[in-house]
Amino acid sequence: MRLRHITGCEEIVENSKYCIHLENIDGKYNKIDINQIFDNKNPINLELGMGKGQFICNLAKLNKNINYIGIEKYPTVMLKAFDNYENIYLDNNEFNDSNYSNLKFICTDVRNLTKIFDEHIINKIYLNFSDPWPKKRHENRRLTSIPYLKIYEKLLFKKGIIEFKTDNRLLFDFSVEQFKNYGLNIDGLTYDLHNDNELNKNNIMTEYEEKFSSKGNKIYKVIASFK
Ligand code: SAH
Repeated sequence: MRLRHITGCEEIVENSKYCIHLENIDGKYNKIDINQIFDNKNPINLELGMGKGQFICNLAKLNKNINYIGIEKYPTVMLKAFDNYENIYLDNNEFNDSNYSNLKFICTDVRNLTKIFDEHIINKIYLNFSDPWPKKRHENRRLTSIPYLKIYEKLLFKKGIIEFKTDNRLLFDFSVEQFKNYGLNIDGLTYDLHNDNELNKNNIMTEYEEKFSSKGNKIYKVIASFK
């Protein structure tokens, strides 16, 4: 997702109390001290490429016993997530002090995550409607390709889980194949999420999911776990 550039958006994101800020000295990142970010030992789940953040704001609001971090690389898109943070997450939320919130954002590229997080501290990774990169020569840019699975393996605990949704059949088939090739277990799979009683239970729609399913597109979902 790319939005028209908004002057000063980088600065707004850098100063936002909703974000975890990265210390980048000469291209080298300092690792985040996760115990300082969340004041508890609850599990930590990530959404990678959260876009405007509707999904993670609703999820974090419903599950206060889990900590969530939304990752998005574009500051202009991150600004929209701040609106959802206020309108969805903070709305009627007893945790309306963002210092103690179970939801934080980081504005960075997924490729930086192993530089900023300690290894094996994440329980689950959500990928929703990731960019399809349709050209074969760009397949290693897909967030479900093996180079990215290597990153996720470092971030996740043993047996860590990936949940992936998309309406793009080519990307979905590619992703399931990559998961299998990399040795992940396939724990759940559907080619029609919204008509799958089991996997659709407690489903939270993303912005893209609402848009594409309203056009009649089927939503595909896979749940996979590392061994
Ligand atoms: N998850 C949202 C948005 C999907 S669009 C939804 O389902 O509605 C994909 C999003 O991933 C875009 O906002 C894009 O900027 C972000 N993205 C793509 N590659 C990324 C990367 N390498 N690091 C961080 N964000 C990325």
